[in-house]
Amino acid sequence: MRVVVVGGGAAGCAASFALARAGADVETLERGDALGGVATSEVVGGTTINDGVQGGATSYANARAIMEACGTETPHWVDVRVSFGRGEAHWRNHGEATALTRALRDDIARFEKTLKRIKRFEALYAFVSVERALRWHGHSKAFRDRMVYATTALFFGTGNCTRKVSSIVLARVFNDDRLRLYDYDPVRFMSEAPKMFAFPKFSEMYRRIGEDITSHGGRVTLNARVVKVEREKKCVRVHFENAEGAIEVRECDRVIFACNTEQSKAMLDAGTGTSMMERHIFNNIEYFDDVSVTHSDEAYMKKHYEVAEDVRDMYFIKSYDDDPSLCEMSFDLTAYQPFAKGANGERVYQSIFLNAAKDKSRWTRDEIDPNRVLLVKWWRQFGHTVRHFTRAVPFWRFVQNKRRTLYAGSYTSVNTHEIAIISGLVAAYRCGAPYPFADDVAASFQFDLYASIIHGVKRRR
Ligand SMILES: Cc1cc2nc3c(=O)[nH]c(=O)nc-3n(C[C@H](O)[C@H](O)[C@H](O)COP(=O)(O)OP(=O)(O)OC[C@H]3O[C@@H](n4cnc5c(N)ncnc54)[C@H](O)[C@@H]3O)c2cc1C
Repeated sequence: MRVVVVGGGAAGCAASFALARAGADVETLERGDALGGVATSEVVGGTTINDGVQGGATSYANARAIMEACGTETPHWVDVRVSFGRGEAHWRNHGEATALTRALRDDIARFEKTLKRIKRFEALYAFVSVERALRWHGHSKAFRDRMVYATTALFFGTGNCTRKVSSIVLARVFNDDRLRLYDYDPVRFMSEAPKMFAFPKFSEMYRRIGEDITSHGGRVTLNARVVKVEREKKCVRVHFENAEGAIEVRECDRVIFACNTEQSKAMLDAGTGTSMMERHIFNNIEYFDDVSVTHSDEAYMKKHYEVAEDVRDMYFIKSYDDDPSLCEMSFDLTAYQPFAKGANGERVYQSIFLNAAKDKSRWTRDEIDPNRVLLVKWWRQFGHTVRHFTRAVPFWRFVQNKRRTLYAGSYTSVNTHEIAIISGLVAAYRCGAPYPFADDVAASFQFDLYASIIHGVKRRR
């Protein structure tokens, strides 16, 4: 089988990895000059940082399995320390309880019951936003704004639409042992030390994954921007602009779209078009523009967050005063990534400002000292809204493996590196490549769960 994978991010690389190992004739076309997609490394102020994707949780079994198979550096495990809010609205997931934690004691204690109820009636709650679910369960506005939305934003903050995140997503990441991102704590709300890991340098990790693909006979073509896809009865023709600006065409049996749906739609529209179901799904995935500013401006951090001298927090969340359900996030990269070292021991931070279209007027980006700005990058990401989970996610199974096409990428489900990897492995499986980590119980569970929800298939054993 000849397969062309469009996009060399986590999803595209995982698909190519499995297909190449299965002996398929696979070629990855990536428009950038390196593999990894939004999992990128940059050299700033004399140090290397991972500036997009940063970390994973214990549940990231497939990402870890692929890293091990390709011989990349092992992940660096850390205890997650988060500083939320400022002044009276400040709380942390470690150390002494703050005034806010004490004031919201009842809400925090009752949250466990709320999570259990959401889990029990999951089919119903899939249609219910976090905001509505918490209101139904009588949780206070302060608890919703300052604790739940702020925590949700850590992983699902894209587009600043945390209020609209489906309540089952929130419940799963607290409740489900195999998908867990946070540990609930009846006193502090979020446990003192949920285990997370920082990825190794992505430049190195994806170089190794690329080498693994090519050493097994797969092809990787960089600087190859796909512009048109024609799906015919007997084959698919993929047109791309190469590094010299010339158009090349590849003919294949299957195409895997491992780029976002705006890109896929443009390629299909330029070719033989989309089906009604594809259009329905594409129309229900909402994208938002966020910008990250990497900097070493300690004064900015101290003005907008509670930055302790003695303990090093990794994450900082600031809620906007006029609407505390909306937030800005910052990371201390030097407290998180073992290889990130600021010049003269300085801390290197990254602040991320969400949803340019709606919330730009709230951004305090201009207050960051321009002399301390190391890097500015824009990102376009989908939001985890109820609409996404009710109108897009359940319909993927009706277009997967139809018209010689597969879709892979975090946008098919939840915006995490683990989902991107799994989505690529499942797409490869549908093209005939065996699942490479069948011996790993945790990884297989997630693969099977994703395959059944997004493809409507069960793995053959
Ligand atoms: C700033 C940021 C921080 C994040 N942090 C985390 C984190 O800490 N942990 C976590 O688990 N997840 C994080 N994520 C989520 C992240 O989206 C996923 O983890 C995952 O890496 C996405 O992989 P993907 O393959 O689905 O998409 P992408 O990485 O976006 O890959 C898509 C690829 O397709 C290519 N492409 C697009 N159009 C074309 C074309 N026309 N022709 C050829 N190639 C094309 C792109 O260049 C890109 O390489 C973060 C995301 C962002 C943006």
